[in-house]
Amino acid sequence: MKNIIKTVLLVALSGAFITGCGEKQSQQVAKQDTQTFKWNLVTSWPKNFPGLGQTPEVFASLVNDMSGGRLKIKVYGAGEMVPGFEVFDTVLSGTAQMGHSAAYYWKGKIPASSFFTAVPFGMNAQETNAWLHYGGGLELWQKLYKPYGIIPLAGGNTGLQFAGWFNKEVNSLDDLQGLKMRVGGIGGEVFKAAGGLPVNMPGGEIFSSLQSGALDAAEWVGPYNDLAFGFNDAATYYYHSGWQEPSANLEFLINEQAFNELPKDLQAIVLTAAKSAHANTIDEYTAKNSANLAILLEKHNVQLRAFPPELMAQFKQISLEVIEKMAAEDDSGTINEVWQSYKTFYDSIKPYHELTEQAYLNNR
Ligand code: CA
Repeated sequence: MKNIIKTVLLVALSGAFITGCGEKQSQQVAKQDTQTFKWNLVTSWPKNFPGLGQTPEVFASLVNDMSGGRLKIKVYGAGEMVPGFEVFDTVLSGTAQMGHSAAYYWKGKIPASSFFTAVPFGMNAQETNAWLHYGGGLELWQKLYKPYGIIPLAGGNTGLQFAGWFNKEVNSLDDLQGLKMRVGGIGGEVFKAAGGLPVNMPGGEIFSSLQSGALDAAEWVGPYNDLAFGFNDAATYYYHSGWQEPSANLEFLINEQAFNELPKDLQAIVLTAAKSAHANTIDEYTAKNSANLAILLEKHNVQLRAFPPELMAQFKQISLEVIEKMAAEDDSGTINEVWQSYKTFYDSIKPYHELTEQAYLNNR
């Protein structure tokens, strides 16, 4: 009998305890439900630019809908709040809680950052995503940005890019000597080693530089984005044989302190919306690139070209030499750490993809 009373008492007490906890929790949830946040998101692209500029818009819209309006994110195009190349510092300072850009724009500050955008003759979009999310890539990237109080996340991938726009045909390395070309990241370093003069500039400045002759050539993304900037009016030859960016991974930047101030559910919404917007980007490019190439060729009489295989083989050789040299000469060791991770993953996945994806592309 005593035991039964004891049990009943315990059940009653624990019931009261649970009820008490429940009230406390629901009060907390109610408080969370009413607390709203307003964030700024600065980008390196013109507002609403196809692909690149759509990704942060998709993200902000998802966050708004998923949070019931508790987290509102205002997206700024390049130059609206800050110039395109000041995104990193603006997120670092907290003036904007988020950014959308490409990691290789920060190579002056963080030399290893280039590897998180594109590696010449490196992995395609599918493989890069696998490295980032299942091969330790994202952890390395977040470790690199940690001292700046910024959390990077994958922010869409353009897929394979075009080699670029030229006003003369390019058939050998001789044709590239002293050529001033807008080409960024590791591709720019390779272009320099091949005898060219790489120039890094935001997309919005490329057209006028090509027209004025400040640039001899330029690569940007591919037909969907290049037609939007009208490069067909400033150059004649369009080389499809991209080597410098076999995929270009974009980035979301989040101010760590601002992220930590969000309740857990809004943090989960930010991460989930970022992953969703990231996945959406490659779908957009895949769907739009071919139709826009047809417009360039048929309506604008653009001359489509490919580099000869010998030139591609030279680019490949120079790329490997440049990357190995970058890794060997970086005293911080971070380039080598990232390159070893990238290379190990690439080497492990390449034979399988030769058996599967590559064989299928050749057979279909
Ligand atoms: Ca590019």
